[in-house]
Amino acid sequence: MKRICLIATGGTIVSKDGGNGLEPELTPQELLSYVPELKEIAEIFVRELYRLDSTNIHPQHWLSMAECIREEYENFDGFVVIHGTDTMAYTAAALSYLVQNSRKPIILTGSQKSVYNRDTDARRNLIDAFCYAADMRSHGVYIVFDGTAILGTHARKTRTHSYNAFSSINCPEAAIVQEGRIIRYFEPECDGEVKFYQRMNPHILSVRPYPGISSEILVRTIDCYDGLVIECFGTSGIPAYGGFDEAIRLWVTAGKAIVATTQVPHEGSDMSVYRVGKDLMELGLLEAFDMTPEAVLAKLMWVLGNAANRVELEQMFAGRVWMDTFRG
Ligand code: ASP
Repeated sequence: MKRICLIATGGTIVSKDGGNGLEPELTPQELLSYVPELKEIAEIFVRELYRLDSTNIHPQHWLSMAECIREEYENFDGFVVIHGTDTMAYTAAALSYLVQNSRKPIILTGSQKSVYNRDTDARRNLIDAFCYAADMRSHGVYIVFDGTAILGTHARKTRTHSYNAFSSINCPEAAIVQEGRIIRYFEPECDGEVKFYQRMNPHILSVRPYPGISSEILVRTIDCYDGLVIECFGTSGIPAYGGFDEAIRLWVTAGKAIVATTQVPHEGSDMSVYRVGKDLMELGLLEAFDMTPEAVLAKLMWVLGNAANRVELEQMFAGRVWMDTFRG
């Protein structure tokens, strides 16, 4: 039987309402007691790292999750990370950069309803996640939720209430899981040894332009950040009024890493199409292409935390990690 390490971080799945709204309270052992069938799927060991609503999970937590996986890597055949759904896609992206080439599966799951609710999705999600983690052909980072497996770099929470909370963006779902059976559509390759990273630089500003945006946010904050993500309109639109484009030039001159992505949910950016945005790209902006905003944020933090110089930074950002981009 496969040995799987359950890493507990909190979320609705372990939450109770003590009168002030839902908050994580159940221990991992209490959680497991609601799903006794898991014992037939794998031998389960528990590491409880936190009991947090995932709203309060930040890059330092990602680093300690990766560190926990590093410490336990040789002891287990795979990992299931229990996590709140709200920021699960960010954590899945971050772990995809912090733990690369893992031949052992690292599966994130959680639920929209707490495990003790009569109509909870927690039991199904846990069973599916453990089946996926215990399967010989699984490797790398995925979210397994509502019967689908989504690459850790392509997941996005797209529904606040429904059980099918996650979508796979700009990439097909990797597999479906039905009553213990896994039907795989594609399987990315691992090339080389597993590699753990221990640094991230969280000093990034993300700006989503809207009609009428002022340049002030960029001008006033330039000294506070090392990186900037601009969620352009459409394929590539960055406003050229009110000094917004000039403010971006200031960031470029100051040597900041700037990534252009799109605020459109599907199909990614293409900065080569329109005059707007194109001139700025020529200054050396990085392009996200079909990466999700979550993956862009996590990748830029990973790159800024680990690149030794500008050339390395550009190479690392452009390099494909865990199929985070199909174009680029
Ligand atoms: N607020 C919760 C969290 O992200 C939502 C959930 O788990 O579904 O921790």
